[in-house]
Amino acid sequence: MATQPQKPINFIDLKAQREYLGKKIDNAVMGVVDSCAFVMGPQVREFEAKIAEFAGAKYGLSCANGTDAIVLPLMAWGIGAGDAVFCPSFTFAATAEVIPWTGATGVFVDILEDTYNIDPVKLEEAIEKVVADGKLTPKVVIAVDLFGQAADYPKIRAICDKYNLKLISDSAQGFGCTLNGKHPIEWADAQTTSFFPAKPLGCYGDGGAVITNSEDDWHMMDSIRVHGKAVKNDLEGKNFDHDPKYMNMRIGMNSRLDTIQAAVLLEKIAIFSEEIEKRNVVADRYYEGLKDVCVAPIVIDGGVSNWAQYTIQVPDRDALMAYLRENGVPSAAYYPIPMHVQGPYLDFVNTGYGQLPVTEHMADAVMSLPMHPYMDTETQDYIIAKIREFLSK
Ligand SMILES: *Cc1c(COP(=O)(O)O)cnc(C)c1O
Repeated sequence: MATQPQKPINFIDLKAQREYLGKKIDNAVMGVVDSCAFVMGPQVREFEAKIAEFAGAKYGLSCANGTDAIVLPLMAWGIGAGDAVFCPSFTFAATAEVIPWTGATGVFVDILEDTYNIDPVKLEEAIEKVVADGKLTPKVVIAVDLFGQAADYPKIRAICDKYNLKLISDSAQGFGCTLNGKHPIEWADAQTTSFFPAKPLGCYGDGGAVITNSEDDWHMMDSIRVHGKAVKNDLEGKNFDHDPKYMNMRIGMNSRLDTIQAAVLLEKIAIFSEEIEKRNVVADRYYEGLKDVCVAPIVIDGGVSNWAQYTIQVPDRDALMAYLRENGVPSAAYYPIPMHVQGPYLDFVNTGYGQLPVTEHMADAVMSLPMHPYMDTETQDYIIAKIREFLSK
């Protein structure tokens, strides 16, 4: 019988990573403090280049958080009133929240039972429904790489091409995941991520980024993140008798990544591939220890998850969570209330109980276990033993 580890068990252990990185973080932060280049310092551009390179894309654009990262491409593409934007309901609020910010209407789509990601068949049905209704113009699909694994991008891209839609990959959880060796930006027009500390690639506060292969989109988003400032295409071939710095060409926002966060992220992205490998070791160990007693996660064919969450399905989820809590094991239910039944989202299409049966079922059935790259085997064996103990009762 596995005995309870001496140290408290963490759902995500940020301290272990801090120790692993040691003085590198201190030096990175103090370097920015000493330089006083707190906003748009050189580390910001350096990190933007790094994250693009990591994902095999041309351009990276950092911003204040993973929510702004999703709205930036929507704004850059001029999405607004009368447009339909499709997204899953089984996700964190931010994915859906940004759609009404632009004036567009959100359309919720159900998920697949095995991967929890948007169901391409249901996506096409939802698009057909909007087309048949004739009130909205389908414009964008936001796919989410939920719990760390890629959505079915080859199928989703084919649908987007058929209906002439743009595709955003919300990789706030999934950044670093691949499908057939490629990052989601291989298929998406924009891939977005969050550096919230608990995400697989987190900083020491809030932060986000958009990855793109379009130079025009990059400049447009660069303008929008700084109050609609004039950028390349606005200035080309024109002469000004004043500094164009304070020319505002469009309505934008203030959404910059702090230089200190960029400096922290430069250290973290250097070990990120190694961390994804370690996360996969932990995930494999969970799988071997639990596959015969619960529904263990399934990864899409050809996919490598970053295991932002290790999520299982059990018959009596809440009881198991309570039992684990009593035994010193933290767990979490993502997401207990789907977006399509929540009050502020009832203006979307496909809302209310009964509309998205797979999403509604999973909201009651899934739970996520402690997961981070630095989990020791003793701790993990204890967690597995406690789950087995409960499920065999
Ligand atoms: C965390 C998250 C976001 C938002 O990121 P923030 O940095 O907190 O704004 C968006 N989408 C998904 C799927 C997320 O998990």
